[in-house]
Amino acid sequence: MPELPEVETVRQTLRPILQGRTITAIDIHWPKIVHMDQVLFCHLLIGARFHDVERFGKYLFFVFDDEQILVSHLRMEGKFYYQAEAEPMDKHVHVVFTLDNGMQLRYHDVRKFGTMELTNRHSLWQLPSLRKLGYEPFQEQATATYLFEKFQRTQRPIKSVLLDQHVLVGLGNIYVDEVLFRAKIHPLTPAKKLTKSQAEKILDASVAVLEKAIALGGTTIRTYQSTLGVDGRFQNELQVHTKLGEPCPVCGTPIEKMKVGGRGTYYCPVCQQEKGDK
Ligand SMILES: [Zn+2]
Repeated sequence: MPELPEVETVRQTLRPILQGRTITAIDIHWPKIVHMDQVLFCHLLIGARFHDVERFGKYLFFVFDDEQILVSHLRMEGKFYYQAEAEPMDKHVHVVFTLDNGMQLRYHDVRKFGTMELTNRHSLWQLPSLRKLGYEPFQEQATATYLFEKFQRTQRPIKSVLLDQHVLVGLGNIYVDEVLFRAKIHPLTPAKKLTKSQAEKILDASVAVLEKAIALGGTTIRTYQSTLGVDGRFQNELQVHTKLGEPCPVCGTPIEKMKVGGRGTYYCPVCQQEKGDK
């Protein structure tokens, strides 16, 4: 599943390709991906010119000159391909935007879980999908005090709290494991038990892990590959995720795996002891 760093890689790849291009035709092969009336969607976007490609968390925002914004979430396996009109169409391509230079932006999604919504600058943050999200670790509103106060309100394990996007946006399963390892916090620790200094460590580790992953183009695990076949290299930097049985890079203890909220979770049982264990 693409996470924030992979989506950022997609954004950086698409931005220079799309800027200044105008949509001349749209074909929708799987209507459920488009969360509005198809005819209206095509009517509003044909003739629109790409101004920029932005991102928040795992959402891509295609911004047009007329201030319309196409919000796209790739979910499990969505990808964008930039191909010439003449190139063969893969059966998993569900939405096709033809551009004024004879190229096409093709949305490919084997699982068909991805979504596209059309809004504008004024209404963007009112979208139900965006309204309840927390802050990205990079935003100035994401402070240790903010995190600590949010953590105080829940007994849920810190791993689940970081995954659910209401407090911090952009940490998926891989990155939460890496963040908790760096912050030396056991994934099952109830959020309420964390100190302000631990909240600060989580915040610092989140910024460090995401920045490094963005710099390396994200992480390619299993089927995920960003647009144009750019592979992420952050998997070479993983310290605990997918490392079951391998020695912890800090203390040498074999990395363990368990389920937290149904998600495979990797951790070092020595570096990340539950609070009160010692
Ligand atoms: Zn260790």
